[in-house]
Amino acid sequence: MTLLTFRFAPSPNGDLHLGHAYSALLNQTLAKASGGRLLLRIEDIDTTRCTPQLEAGVLADLKWMGLGWEEPVRRQSEHFAEYEAVLDQLIREDIVYPAFMSRGEIRAFIADSEKHGRDWPRDPDGVPLYPPADKTLPVKERERRIADNEPFAWRLDIGAAMARVGKDLAWAEFTDETLSVTRSVEARPQDWGDVIVARRDIPTSYHLAVVMDDALQGVSHIVRGQDLFSATGVQRLLQELLGLPQPAYFHHRLILGPDGRKLSKSLGDTGLAKLRGSGATPDDIRLMVGL
Ligand code: GLU
Repeated sequence: MTLLTFRFAPSPNGDLHLGHAYSALLNQTLAKASGGRLLLRIEDIDTTRCTPQLEAGVLADLKWMGLGWEEPVRRQSEHFAEYEAVLDQLIREDIVYPAFMSRGEIRAFIADSEKHGRDWPRDPDGVPLYPPADKTLPVKERERRIADNEPFAWRLDIGAAMARVGKDLAWAEFTDETLSVTRSVEARPQDWGDVIVARRDIPTSYHLAVVMDDALQGVSHIVRGQDLFSATGVQRLLQELLGLPQPAYFHHRLILGPDGRKLSKSLGDTGLAKLRGSGATPDDIRLMVGL
């Protein structure tokens, strides 16, 4: 039987909190229980917000909790050329397009459209979908704007991508932490509109890097927070477009703060470093996250 492979994939753009602790420890528990592998991946494509200091803090917190992982750790910022090669393939296949609108222009476009009585569609996170204007720009106009060094991101033409795949997509989602039973979930990438596959200054995006790395590292079981549940639809579509295998998923409960809200990296009192500093032990952390 092939080994099950799990991964914990933090972005070192802030300090880890109890939500990350639960995710990391759950992956560790499941890998151990199945005799499988546990990988650690540092998702640091945002090289401005992710710093070596923050990464060192993440590693120290994980070690302190007793998380063990296989070396070497994959650091996404060291693999931009690989992402770029796949981006180039998507450009050649004409299913991505350069998107020039700035945040301000998007806001103005949507405000204008809503003034005329039409609610602008939003993605599952509540962010307005990207307006369609750039998708239909004449090739000459695109070329001119690129030659003029106008900044742009590459966005997936979601309609074209779904047509290329030509079938409905779904994924296997485990129903609980024991990972014994799965149900099939319909993938709805269209709910996200034309997602970014490469940011203005980086030849990739979270979605592109995550599907490439999960495949490259042979991840069979993706265990991560419920907040990424709907995004899985986009990732299934990219896996299908790029001919990558499909892992099974479990999107676990989120650890909430005392105010009942999702934890954020700025919430100091649930930060692992702070808890450790005030005398908490790794066992206390396990208890606090219900493991
Ligand atoms: N790097 C992502 C985060 O820290 C997690 C990505 C994933 O697990 O797919 O939120």
